[in-house]
Amino acid sequence: MRSDRERKGFKDYVSVDSKSLVHHNYDALTAYLHRIHSACPSVTRLYSIGKSVQNRELWVIEFSGQSPGSHRPGVPEFKYVGNMHGNEVVSREVLLYLADFFCRNYDRTPLVKDLLASTRVHIMPSMNPDGYESSHAGDSNGVVGRSNANGIDLNRNFPDQFRAGEPDEKPEQPETAAVRAWLARWPFVLSANLHGGAVVANYPFDGTKEGASVYSKAPDDATFRQLARAYSSSHPRMTSQHRCPAYLTERFTDGITNGAQWYSLYGGMQDYNYLNTNCFELTLELSCNKHPYAAELPRYWSENFYPLLVFMSAVHKGVRGFVLDFDTGAPLSAVSVLVDGIDHAVLTAQDGDYWRLLAPGSYTLRFVKRGYSSYSATVTVTDEAAVQLNATLRIRPFADWSAAQDFNLKANLASEYLPTIADYRQQSKDLARQYPGLVAVRSLADGVTALTLCGRIDDDDAKNSLPGALLVGTLNKFESATGEVLLRLARHLAAGYNQSDELRSLLNNLRITIVPVLFSSSNNSTKLSINNASSADCSNTELLSSATAVESL
Ligand SMILES: [Zn+2]
Repeated sequence: MRSDRERKGFKDYVSVDSKSLVHHNYDALTAYLHRIHSACPSVTRLYSIGKSVQNRELWVIEFSGQSPGSHRPGVPEFKYVGNMHGNEVVSREVLLYLADFFCRNYDRTPLVKDLLASTRVHIMPSMNPDGYESSHAGDSNGVVGRSNANGIDLNRNFPDQFRAGEPDEKPEQPETAAVRAWLARWPFVLSANLHGGAVVANYPFDGTKEGASVYSKAPDDATFRQLARAYSSSHPRMTSQHRCPAYLTERFTDGITNGAQWYSLYGGMQDYNYLNTNCFELTLELSCNKHPYAAELPRYWSENFYPLLVFMSAVHKGVRGFVLDFDTGAPLSAVSVLVDGIDHAVLTAQDGDYWRLLAPGSYTLRFVKRGYSSYSATVTVTDEAAVQLNATLRIRPFADWSAAQDFNLKANLASEYLPTIADYRQQSKDLARQYPGLVAVRSLADGVTALTLCGRIDDDDAKNSLPGALLVGTLNKFESATGEVLLRLARHLAAGYNQSDELRSLLNNLRITIVPVLFSSSNNSTKLSINNASSADCSNTELLSSATAVESL
């Protein structure tokens, strides 16, 4: 192992002061983090993502080679979360020491320097500071302090793919809500959630549909196994099927396990990360003894600090790049990055940047965004640095879009407005004639025309028993865009009734009334326009009489 470490430039580093390798309660932890930030102000930021039930801060210390506090385009975001179970304390201490270690080495040890120059790292030593305060050293396998101050297990408190909305779900806890908001805030790529009570790297899924403890394969199973092995194989005893005294029958091949195969659980944080964000999260169990005496902490630190660095550097594997608009060069966010054969999309972030972690192999990636032609390319991923794959997407020609999304309705591709109110009236009548039994047209007061679309249009009782929706456009003559959009929507719905199960079901269960042009005028040839008119140009009396017409609906 030593030669591997040396090859990666991991030598000649400054150790953490051995006197600090002790337990830190909330006040000591807070002071420790402030001390690190003061010692390394240019590369750190200390922030809180919220408060625990008992009002303790949920501290995070961020390390970033440049500009802590903001996402840099192309720089991946990584996080470690410790002490989610308040009585599993090794991770809390190890993460504090890791932060200290970064501060001491960020400008001198090549591995650390490179890592922090190319990665934004967020370290949360304790997600459950309240639970910690009620736990005590020497309680190697107990449960006191495991839950938060409301007695709720935070690693069972996240929305779950298999148990959404079940009545026995516990209310969302402030610690959980804070973490979920944090996940939504930054485009995290890779993460680990650190625990104790075993020595193993655990990967998704944690849940199974029926609740049985069997292997529950995530679409990215191969990549998760690779990530889990990155940790276990760097650890001095994780791969040696280390068995904990309390669970002598448990053996983990290669020091890794699928979560549900070990034991199935619901509401866990790692499944939530994978299914709701771009982030791949693993659960790393660092010690048999959940709350060892302080004398044992140096040993856990020496075992884990190198694996923690190795795991972190895995954020730079797979495929990465930017997705831009072909014509403007503008970054495209929320582009789905899909991999053929793997049913799991990641989305590009605000700057069009993306990271797709993948185990070594050959893959075809597709970049898909509504309104754009998709792009695909085949790449070969190795165990070395990520493949850079940038993509530019062209806005899809309207004709293509029309064929794919709008039933090829040529009238909906017209690039100009209908000129007069009378034209809207005529088009509405034409639509009713074209789709008898589905579309009815009615003249309201003042010559305002209403279209009703409903699968039960000829059955008054059935039709009237359905819920109704009313859409109204063009309230004055300078605002014809909404009328145009609504008329096109009416065409889309009518054409879709026989071509789309979704629209048929919609129109069989809803009565939709559309008034494309509410503005009325005694002069049928009144021209509509989209000029920016001042409100003085809009006749209130015209609007009032039209509103009366709508009331009759
Ligand atoms: Zn735990």
